[in-house]
Amino acid sequence: MNDPQVATIPYWQQGAQVQLPEAALPKRVDVLIIGGGYTGLSAARETAALGAATLVLEAGAIGAGCSGRNGGQVAHSIKPTFAELSRVHGAERAFAICREGHEAMAYLRWLATEGGVDCDWRQQGCFYGAHTRRHFLAMAKDARCQPRGLEQRISVIARADQRQEIATDFYHGGCVYHDDASVDPMRLLLGLLRRAQSAGVTVLDRCPALALETNREGFEVTTPRGRIFASKLLIATNGYTGNLTPWQRRRVIPIGSYQIATEPLGASQVKSLIPQGRNIVDTRRVVVYFRPSPDGTRIVFGGRAALAETDPLACAPRLMDMMTRILPQLEGVRCEYAWAGWVAYTFDTLPHLGSHRGIHYCMGYCGQGVPLAPHFGRRIGQQMMGIEEGRTALDGLPFPTRPYYGGTPWFMAPSVFAYRTLDALGI
Ligand SMILES: Cc1cc2nc3c(=O)[nH]c(=O)nc-3n(C[C@H](O)[C@H](O)[C@H](O)COP(=O)(O)OP(=O)(O)OC[C@H]3O[C@@H](n4cnc5c(N)ncnc54)[C@H](O)[C@@H]3O)c2cc1C
Repeated sequence: MNDPQVATIPYWQQGAQVQLPEAALPKRVDVLIIGGGYTGLSAARETAALGAATLVLEAGAIGAGCSGRNGGQVAHSIKPTFAELSRVHGAERAFAICREGHEAMAYLRWLATEGGVDCDWRQQGCFYGAHTRRHFLAMAKDARCQPRGLEQRISVIARADQRQEIATDFYHGGCVYHDDASVDPMRLLLGLLRRAQSAGVTVLDRCPALALETNREGFEVTTPRGRIFASKLLIATNGYTGNLTPWQRRRVIPIGSYQIATEPLGASQVKSLIPQGRNIVDTRRVVVYFRPSPDGTRIVFGGRAALAETDPLACAPRLMDMMTRILPQLEGVRCEYAWAGWVAYTFDTLPHLGSHRGIHYCMGYCGQGVPLAPHFGRRIGQQMMGIEEGRTALDGLPFPTRPYYGGTPWFMAPSVFAYRTLDALGI
């Protein structure tokens, strides 16, 4: 596709892009944070509020990373299930890890409703559509047998009733998770930026950290605007983690994720397609997820459109095709925005925070960072300042890697191909 009418900026950034004034680089700070997304800005707000002179360096413009280009869907989102975590970590720790997902959701709700972060928070729920009958039966069972203390409000929707959620017969029924929510991701990012700045944080955008040296007193970082010395350092680069920090790079798996937004369809057409205005996610391994735009006039649709492609324009027709298979009523509708970003997976599908050789890190939300990144960002900031409140159920877990893995996931294309085949076979 080479359609000049398709904009390659995220739909959320239209009219919302910011360029920070080009301030000089200070010589020295107490806390230096590399990465100006939800994680970095949330951590920075904590360290500054606790009295540390804090600087955030962002390589691109604000919103260059995932935080300005995600789908804005919010779920209780620790990836492994309680049962899976219990097998590895025991029931008590598994419960505590799952509670972190609930706390993350509660913190984001608080930020949006009481904490002054105006981000179009809507707790309208999510319909999870079953890709096969077997998926539906498994979902219905999970909804009936939720672990005590981790219950969510879930309604099972039979296929015969599914059109009250989405105007399609594509799914075999599904479940509504009533507590799921949505935000405007860019407004969330700008809200966290303002919150950090009000606490005294300096944020420099378009200022990448190019080199890093560690010495006995701290860290020296080279940027295009000079060198800066910091007593403490946080790496908050998630799916954009590069060679600056090879130890962290070997532990996150960057996976391309793609989004489109349709042309305006009108509020009544969007309501006829998704009558309750909820997020929609399906149960395929190679997941697709979509929702109405905040103004209710478009569909914003996302998924993994390509095995190795990084050009969002090349991916847009594939996403349009995936969308019209679910909602054939959208045949002939024009795509107006197409964009992509890098999410960070981990080998155990858990987020990780802590420190290695004195360098703090917080990353690896496995595509669930809208609620998890502000929460764990806050916690790592508190940990850096040595306060008790920063403790989490993930502390001390080993951050796994694999032999011969250096940060380029050569195994992704064959894995996604295999997952797609299993999805197509309904397995
Ligand atoms: C298309 C897409 C859709 C998604 N949809 C959802 C969703 O619906 N729900 C959900 O929960 N999650 C979703 N996610 C994931 C979510 O957006 C992320 O988990 C979250 O934003 C991570 O925030 P972060 O601050 O850790 O990382 P990021 O926002 O990626 O920030 C990292 C930053 O580090 C910067 N950086 C890297 N190297 C350097 C350097 N050397 N110097 C300075 N800066 C550097 C990068 O420029 C980047 O801005 C989606 C992601 C994508 C890409």
